[in-house]
Amino acid sequence: QSASVQGKTFTIGTDTTFAPFEFRDGNGNLAGIDMDLIRTIAKDQGFNVEIKSLGFNAALQALSSGQVDGVIAGMSITDTRKQVYDFSEPYFDSGVQMAVAKNDETTKGYGDLRGKTVAAKTGSEGESYAKSIADQYGFTVKSLDQSATMYELVKSGNAVAVFDDYPVLAYGIAQNNGLKTVTDKVPGASYGFAVNKGQNPDLLAAFNDGLAKLKANGEYQKLLDTYLKAPP
Ligand code: GLN
Repeated sequence: QSASVQGKTFTIGTDTTFAPFEFRDGNGNLAGIDMDLIRTIAKDQGFNVEIKSLGFNAALQALSSGQVDGVIAGMSITDTRKQVYDFSEPYFDSGVQMAVAKNDETTKGYGDLRGKTVAAKTGSEGESYAKSIADQYGFTVKSLDQSATMYELVKSGNAVAVFDDYPVLAYGIAQNNGLKTVTDKVPGASYGFAVNKGQNPDLLAAFNDGLAKLKANGEYQKLLDTYLKAPP
């Protein structure tokens, strides 16, 4: 434990709905891997957290402007972000994948996207990836702030596909959210907890210390199993 975080309260920004990492449970409480992780680590390290469910891009902006002390939001540790944020040790491997409506029998790959619109989340890796291949395949990227809205756009036929993180797509599809994946996963960066560069090194150290403990004592694996094997 680090003495400098003891008894302090940190405000932590997160995405609104990015299950199984953050979402509202049946009682309207924030639940998910990220939520359990930060709360368990805070308890172990002796600090308090006040979680702000802001949306992904809004959480990053709140961090940059100092309105929150840290962000945990299934946030990928990318080189670009490392220029402005410091990240914890990685805690989950991820990447991007494309999904289409479950009843869509015509969109089978990127080659079927010509002239069409796809949805992605503002400021996300999914958006970057979609934009990186948009010209080549001749499609338009519509950026939205929330995964739920992106999925609705696809189901209503206003977008033909969505680019999002594959663990999140897989979790939703397993719960019959009306989507399916048709292309391969694009392995990407792992998730990490972020603070502003050079600021809050103590919070970051405490997070890493707590994470290492949870990994070593098997609690982290248990947490993953809770959400990934038996979706609540
Ligand atoms: N992992 C992705 C990123 O960091 C998406 C995160 C999210 O949508 N919450 O860009």
